[in-house]
Amino acid sequence: MEKKKVGFYWCASCGGCEEAVVDLAEDLLTALEQIDIVFWPVAMDFKREDVERLDDGEIFATFINGAVRLSEQEEIVKLLRRKSRVIVAFGACSHMGGIPGLANGVAREAILDYYYRNGPALESREPMPPDPERTWKEHGFHLPRFYENVRALDQVVEVDYYIPGCAPPPNVVKGALAQLLSDQPPPSGTVLAATHALCHECELNDTKPEEGIRIQAFRRPHLVDKIDPHTCLLVQGLICLGPVTRGGCGALCIKGRMPCTGCFGPLDGVRDFGAAALSFVASIIDADDPHDIERILDEGIPDPLGTFYMYSLPKSLLFQKVLPSNGRRTARTEPRREKAESR
Ligand code: SF4
Ligand code: SF4
Repeated sequence: MEKKKVGFYWCASCGGCEEAVVDLAEDLLTALEQIDIVFWPVAMDFKREDVERLDDGEIFATFINGAVRLSEQEEIVKLLRRKSRVIVAFGACSHMGGIPGLANGVAREAILDYYYRNGPALESREPMPPDPERTWKEHGFHLPRFYENVRALDQVVEVDYYIPGCAPPPNVVKGALAQLLSDQPPPSGTVLAATHALCHECELNDTKPEEGIRIQAFRRPHLVDKIDPHTCLLVQGLICLGPVTRGGCGALCIKGRMPCTGCFGPLDGVRDFGAAALSFVASIIDADDPHDIERILDEGIPDPLGTFYMYSLPKSLLFQKVLPSNGRRTARTEPRREKAESR
């Protein structure tokens, strides 16, 4: 049987998704009996020209992790889209924008100012922002452009499948590979993980009170003296987003006594993960007086954007929050290459 050509690429990400591939351990060797890796620059010496030389559609599937922030990332994912029959958004950053997507809460110029002009880590006070117009002809390269915002992969190119997680755990990657390589792959657009909420696979789910959860004070994990390992974390006042998060990871964080922050993203049919999470959290607050509600939220959730949109700001209805030169806060709508209603 002829092996299927497969590629891997990373954009704006931490590299954890690349490690997730290696975490397959001996299962990677089994997969290699069916696939031939033709592009994986983080692990082997592949160049852009190696991809350009391939025929359009010659690659069976390319797994792309990371969000898109740079012009170079956009160029390569568009090239890979052309060369691949299947594009898989691999991990939370390509799926929803991920942690890099939180930068959509800050203006581009503020980021450049902090890192290249005024940041505390700068030794020289000489402003040295990257200049994409400048070409180092003698070295044959120029810097990519740093875009105004961060985009999820399907806001740049059409995506066929999504493997969620920050990073996707080995069981999810293995299951997704098996589905993709089977004779009957799932319908295009499928998120290759569970369709139930995380709570359904959490060993603490049975400890929720029958009458429902009511919270008078939210607690932040690092400020809690002792977390009871036998009681639902949400019942203990820790913001666990398991009720609104797609399952599949086996409740990994909860097993480590940390609440779920939602890296697997929303359930099918949910358009905006953060809005669903916010709505759920609001529904369990045990107070009716607006002042009490405000106090509970202010004291327990000092960073609402980071709490509810830790992985999904670019895929939210908000997409981007910027402070333009007139100083007024504004939201930008998401880019037009948005096709999936529920990712
Ligand atoms: S809210 Fe969190 S800790 Fe509680 S059952 Fe759901 S996933 Fe488990
Ligand atoms: S528990 Fe939540 S945050 Fe942790 S790996 Fe699973 S989905 Fe991601």
